[in-house]
Amino acid sequence: MIGVLALQGAFRMHCEALARCGVEAAEIRTAEQLERCHALVVPGGESSTMANLLNTFDLIDPLRSKLAAKMPVLGTCAGMILMAKTISDGQPDQLCFDAIDLAVRRNGYGRQVDSFEADLDIAVVGQPPVRAVFIRAPMVENVGTRVEILAEFDQVPVLCRQDNILVSSFHPELTEDDRIHELFIQMVAQSEV
Ligand code: GLN
Repeated sequence: MIGVLALQGAFRMHCEALARCGVEAAEIRTAEQLERCHALVVPGGESSTMANLLNTFDLIDPLRSKLAAKMPVLGTCAGMILMAKTISDGQPDQLCFDAIDLAVRRNGYGRQVDSFEADLDIAVVGQPPVRAVFIRAPMVENVGTRVEILAEFDQVPVLCRQDNILVSSFHPELTEDDRIHELFIQMVAQSEV
């Protein structure tokens, strides 16, 4: 079962995108629900608020265990921040799970371009380019050697993968183009073989 972390942020649209791909996703708010997941989407929203809510809902250790057990995760925007190794410009001691070897800067695209759209060439999903929506997006500032860069915008990585973890600084759930979700579903299927 693919779960969508549903504490805060853009979780409903991820459920809708997965449904368009033929996958019934479950909204996840408790450790029991998380335990039943084979894969998880961590949506965009506000990463520090989501971190606080993970604490309130007693989900931090259960999520750490699932990550240690190699559960596939799609992390978008705030979800990318939560999966990263280090965060700049976060709250003091802001939680991140070190699931992918990335250093990210919160709101790294700056104020004047808080939100923008761009067409991205993403070889793993083919043509045409993917229209990517960036909303107060994190900027990837450092990439570990085990990370595959699947897409860049202005020579900065915006879609990255390391083993079972796929993260984007943009919001793939906000368009009707479901190829990023399809890519994740393929990763999940391969991880279950
Ligand atoms: N800037 C937000 C944060 O720090 C992320 C924005 C988003 O997810 N659209 O969490």
